[in-house]
Amino acid sequence: MLKKLFKSFRSPLKRNAHPRTTPEIFGSRQHPLQRGQFSRNAVNVVERLQNAGYQAYLVGGCVRDLLLGIHPKDFDVATSATPEQVRAEFRNARVIGRRFKLAHVHFGREIIEVATFRANHPQGEDEEDSHISSRNESGRILRDNVYGSLEDDAQRRDFTINALYFDVSGERILDYAHGVHDIRNRLIRLIGDPEQRYLEDPVRMLRAIRFAAKLDFDIEKHSAAPIRQLASKLRDIPSARLFDECLKLFLAGYAERTFELLVEYDLFAPLFPASAAALKRDPEYTGTLIRQALANTDDRIAQGKPVTPAFLFAALLWPALPARALQLQARGMPPIPAMQEAAHDLIVEQCQRIAVPKRFTLPIREIWDMQERLPRRSGKRADLLLENPRFRAGYDFLLLREDAGEKTDGLGDWWTDYQDASDSERRSMIRDLSSKAEENGEGPARSKRRRGGRRRKGPRADGPASE
Ligand code: ATP
Ligand code: MG
Repeated sequence: MLKKLFKSFRSPLKRNAHPRTTPEIFGSRQHPLQRGQFSRNAVNVVERLQNAGYQAYLVGGCVRDLLLGIHPKDFDVATSATPEQVRAEFRNARVIGRRFKLAHVHFGREIIEVATFRANHPQGEDEEDSHISSRNESGRILRDNVYGSLEDDAQRRDFTINALYFDVSGERILDYAHGVHDIRNRLIRLIGDPEQRYLEDPVRMLRAIRFAAKLDFDIEKHSAAPIRQLASKLRDIPSARLFDECLKLFLAGYAERTFELLVEYDLFAPLFPASAAALKRDPEYTGTLIRQALANTDDRIAQGKPVTPAFLFAALLWPALPARALQLQARGMPPIPAMQEAAHDLIVEQCQRIAVPKRFTLPIREIWDMQERLPRRSGKRADLLLENPRFRAGYDFLLLREDAGEKTDGLGDWWTDYQDASDSERRSMIRDLSSKAEENGEGPARSKRRRGGRRRKGPRADGPASE
């Protein structure tokens, strides 16, 4: 697919991403993109802005992804119109954001994000209006609302492959930062000085990982080099923004690879400190559990099934729980309250880093609570559990723990059988449990039924059941 595009591209790239002031232009015969491949709504937005006398282009992920033959997640527009001017052109537009103000144009469920061309504001420069543009002492950009030209806009973008502009009317690609070259060589490369660009916005480190995982690209060596050293800067990022980024990292269909890269670049610890400590203490179990949960999530996304952040966070944090509960027990707390308190503390602590909203933290607790209830099946308990709206997520979580090597005495298989069993079979399974419990005194109940064989057939239900 890229042959046509790259036929025209011969000059080798010598420098580390230095932006150009004039773009390299790829005419409609030098690349495979056509306007029909872009969202009709996005093309309409561009054309209406142009008709109103503004410059406007499709930009970023949609151009990059279409060049790679990937269906874009969304379609972003860059324009010379200010957010207010965009709002004046479209009745269905809203201005959003503070740190980064932009316009959203709504078409039913599709939102076209329209960003005004922005300029970099060099460090140390006098800023007349600190409300419009400001940095903190480490160079982090706190507000990014200084508007500029198209050339300026290209330079302030993060990666070369994200700084490609598609001109709808001429079907041309404008390339200011050798992005086409880097797409061809499958490289994630920051525009400008990597260290400075990460200091301006440490989230760019996460974005580098996200694109490397999604596109199966390498991170170019100068762009990779400062990451480990700067990883702790993520601690300065507001927790609400990190929550959004985390969803993008783990719910884009490449979560397993993303996790590997986060660990490799020391970015996992600043995001999930307790889980990173558990990974260090017990790499085999923690690594397996997290990878398995992420692989399941990726599978579900590939199959177009819904996924919930609650299951994901429940899995990411679970390995950190036992150590905490044991600490509390060592101070004399009984096991169940210790577990409850450990769960509460862990979530509160995690939310200081990543602001997981209540609508997800509650289900996380319920999935964990279910782990304590699933072994207790006597009398009517098993049937009551089956009716619990959180049963499916709790049961899937149990299987996940078993897959990671936790010993549960065949509990997962018991529940798999129980769900398939007839009423009379169920009664006899419960009877088996109580006679077994009598044999063993107060010991844990064991099932005599087949074990190790049947697993639940369908894929895991880390889906809407738990939302
Ligand atoms: P996708 O939408 O597939 O996740 P994308 O590249 O479109 O990828 P968005 O988060 O939608 O990513 O951002 C749109 C564009 O805005 C990017 O392509 C990039 O050019 C620019 N951008 C986004 N975040 C940053 C950032 N933190 N620093 C600099 N530029 C950014
Ligand atoms: Mg996008």
